Amino acid sequence: MNQIIHFKIKRQEGPGARSYWEEFKVPYAPGHNVISALMEIRENPVNVQGKRVVPVVWDCNCMEEVCGACSMIINGLPRQACATLVDDLDQPIVLEPLTKFPLVRDLVVDRSKMFNALTKVKSWISLDGTWDVHRHAPLMSPSVQSLRYLFSRCMTCGCCMEACPQYHSESEFVGPAPLGQVMMHNVHPTGEYDKPDRLHTLMAPGGITDCGNAQNCVKVCPKDIPLTDAIAELGRQTTVQWLRDLFVK
Ligand code: SF4
Repeated sequence: MNQIIHFKIKRQEGPGARSYWEEFKVPYAPGHNVISALMEIRENPVNVQGKRVVPVVWDCNCMEEVCGACSMIINGLPRQACATLVDDLDQPIVLEPLTKFPLVRDLVVDRSKMFNALTKVKSWISLDGTWDVHRHAPLMSPSVQSLRYLFSRCMTCGCCMEACPQYHSESEFVGPAPLGQVMMHNVHPTGEYDKPDRLHTLMAPGGITDCGNAQNCVKVCPKDIPLTDAIAELGRQTTVQWLRDLFVK
């Protein structure tokens, strides 16, 4: 058992600055996850050369794999730092920021692009007026509830976007996470009213046909969200919408 935890961290002071690697060793204690070990570095930011440096910057919030804020690349894989146990990792533990989002500093990135994509695909259910219909509002079957629950677990962590080869700074592709959310809202009895708008967005450049079927997204999703099932179903829904558009002008 290692009595130290050895980190190799990719650092960068800000956008456009030169990146560099810095190594740290912190005392081992059982039960550390990556964030709690990073907290040790923050408390005593001395690198392996014995030099006191500016503490490493990272993002975190809930510490229970719900908020999605602590996504980073850990030993080559995008994952949640709060839910990744040090005991399960080879050392040195290599930490890098996600590469598909603009870097803010060290391990912090700006995931706004993903949130903007959710807006673009109308990732919401228009609630206005539902109180007027009261008991006459459409019911949701248990099977639809179960299906929606699968997709509702998305925490917009961005791991699927990081793993997707089609999602990058030069591409318009909305990415897998927003597609999962379209799936969730399109099957909702009230959300279905905006289904044609969502599908038309997915039929435009940057939509469903930009998916290259690499299937990396579903492999890295920490919540096991069936993203490839959603993509297949949305392919069917957009085809039906295209046919409808031919006949309904
Ligand atoms: Fe993260 Fe999974 Fe949501 Fe993608 S679908 S943002 S990997 S929780």
